[in-house]
Amino acid sequence: MAISLTPPLPIRMLDLAAQHAAVQPELDAALQSVIAEGAYIQGAAVEQFAGELGEYLGGVQVVPCGNGTDALQLALMSLNLAPGSEVVVPAFTYIATAEAVAILGLRPVMVDVRPDTFGLDPAAVEAAITPRTGAIIVVHLFGQCVDLESLTAIARKYDVALLEDNAQAIGATYRFADGVERYAGTVGVVGTTSFFPSKNLGALGDGGALLTRDASRATYLRQLANHGQTRKYYHEYVGLNSRLDTLQAALLRVKLRYLTSWTTARQQVAAHYDAVLQDIAGLQIPARDPRSSHVFHQYTLTLTDASQRNLLQQHLQHHGVPSVVYYPVPTHLQPAYQYLGYVAGQFPVAEHLCTTVLSLPIHPTLTSAQLDYIAEVVRAFFVVPSPSA
Ligand SMILES: *Cc1c(COP(=O)(O)O)cnc(C)c1O
Repeated sequence: MAISLTPPLPIRMLDLAAQHAAVQPELDAALQSVIAEGAYIQGAAVEQFAGELGEYLGGVQVVPCGNGTDALQLALMSLNLAPGSEVVVPAFTYIATAEAVAILGLRPVMVDVRPDTFGLDPAAVEAAITPRTGAIIVVHLFGQCVDLESLTAIARKYDVALLEDNAQAIGATYRFADGVERYAGTVGVVGTTSFFPSKNLGALGDGGALLTRDASRATYLRQLANHGQTRKYYHEYVGLNSRLDTLQAALLRVKLRYLTSWTTARQQVAAHYDAVLQDIAGLQIPARDPRSSHVFHQYTLTLTDASQRNLLQQHLQHHGVPSVVYYPVPTHLQPAYQYLGYVAGQFPVAEHLCTTVLSLPIHPTLTSAQLDYIAEVVRAFFVVPSPSA
């Protein structure tokens, strides 16, 4: 297990400062113009950014809001489901997906995921549908689309709304059997996204947005996000105060221009990892659904033997390679959701993934020397000689 090398430059899980340094003059100019214009809330950059992102995603309406969790809440509010309605959510996701359901007095119905793509399991979703089901929230986890073909068919069959939590897969595309290709987040009734700094399109603070093809729903969502007002001081609905700051919108306009190249860089990092890690017994590289592109918000390995996961993480840390477990606890076993009555053993795939997944650093500024080093450290743990040795 001896590693001869030391890491070529410190390796970070995420290196936003380096990413921003590469576009510093443009970010500075954006900042200065917002300061000079003085419209810090609902300034021109907010609508400009919404228009540009909508165009980027194939011509959809974009309603900016305060963060990705608010976006989920607003999407659900726009459905006007009866109190107590059930909303299907994955048992393996970031907590916000279930939280937005619970906070509205709706009932999160947890469903297990696929062991390969980590997305909602269509058969399990269909089995969970009841007369009270109002919506299904799919999560394109780690940057790859769920089985949208099957899940849209189920939503249609049972006449329930399909929402897409697209916080992790902005720019990913999905090809349906009929040849139609769509961007993640633009397939369901409403898609949501997050501009949390670590996301693929991150602000320098909080931000989020709703995506929809339906112009009247976009208007409704815009009103819900702004105190339910139809015009100033006239409040038609009980809404939220959830807005994207002008400053964040101006910075996001700059970063959107680089999203395609940053996504390509992430995909190159993933391809590099795939090539050097795919032959290791005991380790599964990320599965690819041929119908979806993968924008690699995370590069997530799955270990065959759960007892090795934490040891691998310690080994990596010892050699200067950060890694993170997304996510260590499935949604149904979180203390806050015990009132739903779920128990351990109910969603075996989600529970198993929580003990076997490990995400490696993936960001556009990793060098190939760093990637080679990371691969060598991983291979050493499994006592696989590196190709160059
Ligand atoms: C980040 C994230 C959210 C929440 O976004 P915030 O902007 O942090 O509120 C929701 N769902 C998923 C899957 C996420 O990864």
